[in-house]
Amino acid sequence: MAVSHRLFRLYSPATTAKNTFSSFLIRSLSSSPSGPTLDPEIDLEEARAQLEKSSSTSPTPSKDRNFHWVFLGCPGVGKGTYASRLSSLLGVPHIATGDLVRDELSSSGLLSSQLKELVNHGKLVPDEFIISLLSKRLQAGKEKGESGYILDGFPRTVTQAEILEGVTNVDLVINLKLREEALLAKCLGRRICSECGGNYNVACIDIKGDDVSPRMYMPPLLPPPNCESKLISRADDTEEVVKERLRIYNKMTQPVEEFYRKRGKLLEFELPGGIPESWPKLLRALHLEDLYDKQSAIA
Ligand code: AMP
Repeated sequence: MAVSHRLFRLYSPATTAKNTFSSFLIRSLSSSPSGPTLDPEIDLEEARAQLEKSSSTSPTPSKDRNFHWVFLGCPGVGKGTYASRLSSLLGVPHIATGDLVRDELSSSGLLSSQLKELVNHGKLVPDEFIISLLSKRLQAGKEKGESGYILDGFPRTVTQAEILEGVTNVDLVINLKLREEALLAKCLGRRICSECGGNYNVACIDIKGDDVSPRMYMPPLLPPPNCESKLISRADDTEEVVKERLRIYNKMTQPVEEFYRKRGKLLEFELPGGIPESWPKLLRALHLEDLYDKQSAIA
């Protein structure tokens, strides 16, 4: 049986976290020199406790206000792009759990190949595993004096949302939306510079308008000449895997939208097009135009 199937069977809600493959996964991680230092017997409750400890507010916040923001949205919608822009503007860290997972994948060994099996097939990794990775990242940030966060790619399940809500006060959840025709094209066009990590997109999206929706034009976001020869694609940005990621988003993550909607924390934001059109509108929706203008004037 494929590893991904095994993991999913073992991660059914009816299964206790201990004595599962996840415990093995996490035990393996704890002995990996490059992996997070995890308790060998960690389960969801212990992962929650780790998160609580690492997400408590730093005694010396670097800014007057802490931002605890979350970005939700389908794969390819642009969470990383806008989260990273807001992170620079607000001076809070942008934490993408997908990046944390990819860092783990770059280590060698059995664990990494098992994780790869999940990620490269578009499946989610177990809740306790991702919570532990996030805790470790928050803890490292706290030690450097970081405070607040803009989370991108977390939470992706209601369990993750419940745990986050139990340990920290998320003040805003921005739910980015984009017409479905554009999502697949954006994932397939995504390119990353293997040297500097810059994100680009070679897709030129031009969707005709009709009676219901206006035309949507998203120009490519091309790399500078020195990155051109170093571009790579993510292994999970193939057509088959993107379709699976979209299916999993609808099944597992859409309920998270409802979770935050019920708590009055969800801001729905429909992207009207590419960055030049969308960024100013997003700033307006977040009441951040003045701050942006001030910072642009100083720069
Ligand atoms: P992303 O870069 O956000 O598309 O994430 C890449 C992959 O990392 C996902 O397809 C999942 O396999 C894994 N991943 C990232 N964040 C989470 C999460 N919160 N829960 C479970 N799996 C995750």
